[in-house]
Amino acid sequence: MWQELRTVDEGFFLSHQMRNGKRMAIFVKATKGINKNKNLYQVFRPNTGLQVKLEPLQDIKKKYQKVLPKAAEKDWTVQYNCSANQCSHAYWRGNCKRYMVYQSCEVGLRRRTYYVLSGSVLSVWSKVEEILAAGPGPQSKMQILRLKTDDGAKIVGCLIPRHCVPTLVSKLSEGATTYSNKFTNADSQHH
Ligand SMILES: [Zn+2]
Repeated sequence: MWQELRTVDEGFFLSHQMRNGKRMAIFVKATKGINKNKNLYQVFRPNTGLQVKLEPLQDIKKKYQKVLPKAAEKDWTVQYNCSANQCSHAYWRGNCKRYMVYQSCEVGLRRRTYYVLSGSVLSVWSKVEEILAAGPGPQSKMQILRLKTDDGAKIVGCLIPRHCVPTLVSKLSEGATTYSNKFTNADSQHH
């Protein structure tokens, strides 16, 4: 990617500010050819990769300074490695309130786990709906998704919030034989 860069403003940046003893490293790339507005740049983060939001260079420069790849390497690598299982709150603040409540927080993780219930879901639909509705927050709405596994199998199912999984498993296994399969395919590594 380094070789694709065309302007002096592209490349690695480090945040002026330090949080929890660490600086934020980002990778910035012009959107020439992608976006008509030449002043907008793509921002890549070590944990979540390419950001949805394009940013004007002057905004980036307010928070970050351009550095050589070598200078950004340490902060980039440390965050990349930590974000395998440490959320952004813990990384930048040293603790996470959500983690304390739910025993899990996936904010800013580069690898996330999704629980998908598939198969003959219709027969247990009301049970599932009930459990999801009992959960807190906006996640209580049923979300259907389609995914493809590494070995090419296509699965349609509904997304189960992590905190509903134990209840759902116990409710659905009442008097039933269970079969579950773990796919670790929802990997979002951008490098
Ligand atoms: Zn967190």
